[in-house]
Amino acid sequence: MAPDMMPGPAERDDHAEIREQVRKLCGRFPGEYWRKLDAERGYPTEFVSALTEAGYLSVLIPEEYGGSGLGISAAAAILETVQAEGCNGAACHAQMYTMGTILRHGSPEQKQRYLPKIATGELRLQAFGVTEPGSGTDTTSLRTTARRDNQGYVVNGQKIWTSRAEHSDLMLLLARTTPRDQAAKKTEGLSTFIVDMKAVTGLTIRPIRTMMNHNSCEVFFDEMRIPADSLLGEEGRGFRYILDGMNAERLLIAAECIGDAKWFTAKSVAYANDRKVFNRPIGQNQGIQFPIARAYAQMRAAELMVQDGLERFEAGLPCGEQANMAKMLAAEASWAAAEACIQTHGGFGFAEEYDVERKFRETRLYQVAPISTNLILSYLAEHVLGMPRSY
Ligand SMILES: Cc1cc2nc3c(=O)[nH]c(=O)nc-3n(C[C@H](O)[C@H](O)[C@H](O)COP(=O)(O)OP(=O)(O)OC[C@H]3O[C@@H](n4cnc5c(N)ncnc54)[C@H](O)[C@@H]3O)c2cc1C
Repeated sequence: MAPDMMPGPAERDDHAEIREQVRKLCGRFPGEYWRKLDAERGYPTEFVSALTEAGYLSVLIPEEYGGSGLGISAAAAILETVQAEGCNGAACHAQMYTMGTILRHGSPEQKQRYLPKIATGELRLQAFGVTEPGSGTDTTSLRTTARRDNQGYVVNGQKIWTSRAEHSDLMLLLARTTPRDQAAKKTEGLSTFIVDMKAVTGLTIRPIRTMMNHNSCEVFFDEMRIPADSLLGEEGRGFRYILDGMNAERLLIAAECIGDAKWFTAKSVAYANDRKVFNRPIGQNQGIQFPIARAYAQMRAAELMVQDGLERFEAGLPCGEQANMAKMLAAEASWAAAEACIQTHGGFGFAEEYDVERKFRETRLYQVAPISTNLILSYLAEHVLGMPRSY
């Protein structure tokens, strides 16, 4: 069964036409395309350009700035379809949610300067500089500083895992503007900047070779000067700005995981029905059927949670609980589907030409990034269930 043939809530939404068009676009980027890039650790420039030109990366940008002004469920439908078709939205998904920080907190002048060009693809906002080697998940302990002087800000420090930094024009950067011991709270004194990466000096980017092709990098700032109008919103409130984009990020990543799970399940079913061992299809064995069916059920349950989160987000209701649970459940469901898929394929699951091992590596990331499962459980325990903070 092809992923698009699977019944379910995603097919009852308003985005059937978008899904169909994205599916067609993805058809131009088959397994060979991704395999070649994977081997070279290359960036899927043609794929990202095709999505940009078709307007899919700017669906969340309001029409007045050149986007289509759709809700987050449209973005989720696009990213889910990209993954379900065997492509990889990780090359460009961040633009969809980091753009929201400019939209919500940028000045009218900043919005006018950046959003129309992001919508056309003239400017890429793909780099998101939050994580640092020394602080990891403990974001408020980050050490990168932005020092104000009469010409603007001077940035010093280091980021790690800044994905797509080499393929982006702009970076959304979180840096400390007030030393932690002078800030009223550790969550204060951090500021968000939009950095024109092509216009600065003192910026060094070093790619990190990872188990999957993710174009992730270390980024070093050495007396990097940025103009004063790089600051987004108010100085010192940047952590809050980053946090309020996180529900969107989690829901969109969750939608990608649902797409991955659909891809794996479709592959598993096709292979289980086709492959004959002991003169019968391997799919006739319950030992093969059950893990696939179980992963399918997990995916469907997670999909309902994603749907719930998307609906609440679009209705302007609080959705932290749903976005976090959706991200965790969808990442676990895609991993269960990946496990079942590689096992169903036996030795061929490890052969590059089947794409299973590639997708297997790619989907594993989402239990760690952009937020690890432990931190989601901590959030639920503390903020939803009312237990003491554990860290
Ligand atoms: C391929 C890739 C791409 C990425 N892209 C980006 C990007 O574009 N921009 C960006 O800013 N970041 C990015 N990240 C970083 C990502 O968000 C972090 O790796 C992730 O948040 C975990 O942080 P860490 O790696 O420092 O792990 P750590 O914080 O060191 O944690 C290690 C382990 O300890 C656990 N842990 C830590 N504290 C606790 C606690 N209190 N309770 C229970 N368990 C705990 C974590 O769950 C994790 O399993 C990317 C990471 C990867 C691998």
